[in-house]
Amino acid sequence: MTSYANYGHIDGAVVMIGFGSIGRGTLPLIERHFDFDLRKMAVIDPDPSAQTFLKQRGIRHIQTAITKESYRDVLGELFPEGKGFCVNLSVDTSSLDIMKFCRELGVLYIDTVVEPWAGYYFDTPDNAARTNYALRQKVRDEKMRHPGGTTAVSCCGANPGMVSWFVKEALEILANDLGLVVPTPNTKEDWASLMQSLGVKGVHIAERDTQKSTRHKKIGTFVNTWSVEGFIAEGFQPAELGWGTHESWLPEDAHTHDTGCQAAIWIERPGAITRVHSWCPTPGPQYGFLVTHNEAISISDYYTVGQGASPDYRPTCHYAYHPCDDAVLSLHETFGSGIIQSKHHILDENEITEGIDELGVLLYGHNKNAIWYGSRLSIEETRDLAPFQNATGLQVSSAVLAGMVWALENPTAGIVETDEMDHHRCLEIQRPYLGPLEAHYTDWTPLTNRWTQFAEDIDESDPWSFKNVLAS
Ligand code: NAD
Repeated sequence: MTSYANYGHIDGAVVMIGFGSIGRGTLPLIERHFDFDLRKMAVIDPDPSAQTFLKQRGIRHIQTAITKESYRDVLGELFPEGKGFCVNLSVDTSSLDIMKFCRELGVLYIDTVVEPWAGYYFDTPDNAARTNYALRQKVRDEKMRHPGGTTAVSCCGANPGMVSWFVKEALEILANDLGLVVPTPNTKEDWASLMQSLGVKGVHIAERDTQKSTRHKKIGTFVNTWSVEGFIAEGFQPAELGWGTHESWLPEDAHTHDTGCQAAIWIERPGAITRVHSWCPTPGPQYGFLVTHNEAISISDYYTVGQGASPDYRPTCHYAYHPCDDAVLSLHETFGSGIIQSKHHILDENEITEGIDELGVLLYGHNKNAIWYGSRLSIEETRDLAPFQNATGLQVSSAVLAGMVWALENPTAGIVETDEMDHHRCLEIQRPYLGPLEAHYTDWTPLTNRWTQFAEDIDESDPWSFKNVLAS
């Protein structure tokens, strides 16, 4: 029988909000790695299908949707002793409000995205307000206003989340391979200066999901390997990226920010139809979608040397996501018809017949050109490692596990992002669930294999310019 590491006792209640694809995968990891009082555990989700699953495990199901009006009452009742852990894995609930309330109560908190209340993504007319920059900045402002206190881990999934730990590990590998002898970085400033001294111009969060089933996607159904609702919401937000100091060209429809960290720009079009040239080990060069993500901003911000709109150094950073083939087809259908499909389907571990989720960070522009570092987790390995999830899910749920352990070990760290956590410790916990974790160098640049048949406005002086990365 396999024995699993025990990461200690969670004192008080364990409350999970949202029991979708990520919640179902995270629950068995919590059961496996922590001691806690099952009688004090509760899962809040309006979906009645959670009932059978939870009943079998002796876990209380509160069948309701948390709202702006109800969250204090519902959570207040579930944490009567003012201690425990709130694991927020739901769509449509404000991460900031719930995090603030948990800190008020003295309850540890973790989420995987800065989520707003229901309706925000589609009912907010101002595109600038719909950016992740705006959502993240509110959490950063709260951290500034109330430093320290009970730990709340913001955005600790695979990405945002784990990829921030990968960036640090990739920097260590690169420094070693370039023969740079540097003391181990300790602070944000140390890490930023290491990235700068290595000559890294930017980072793609470069992902290729090849998971598929033998069933063909039907017209009118949106298929994905994780939350369809979550993916549609972020796909319809404006394209957004951390904006590096090496960039000399700004897209015509781009906007900068006058307040906050000023590390990012956003573009006047949805991320899910904004394509970028990128690279992953399995396909080599590929198109990815420039879907906005919290880590694009947090990583650019974390590795900034200097401040504000004109720092000494800042890397460009953005997502370059090739979701599973069915999701690409689904997006094509959504944007082609202008209609969001009414049927949603998440491919689960039983129906997926093959494929991997290859999720890593591509650090580019340095003397070894580019290094991809990440997890290449297959569906077969996933089935062996943990129940109730596909490869995408396990990369997320194991990051939640690592974040929970870190929070228990650092209970008064205040509000933190994953860039600010101990990546060695977090990856030590998560590594057993990630399949092969590999570094690959490539000599590919966004100008490699470019078709010259049609005139393209490219910048040959800087192959890694965003002008060349953005597909026309
Ligand atoms: P899902 O769509 O499968 O499940 C969401 C669940 O939330 C559903 O069961 C739904 O009934 C429940 N829910 C909806 N409104 C609720 C409310 N008001 N109160 C309580 N429950 C509510 O989504 P998922 O794939 O499990 O993803 C969950 C969250 O994790 C999403 O916000 C998603 O964006 C995020 N996520 C993050 C990462 C990452 O790497 N950081 C990756 C995948 C998903």
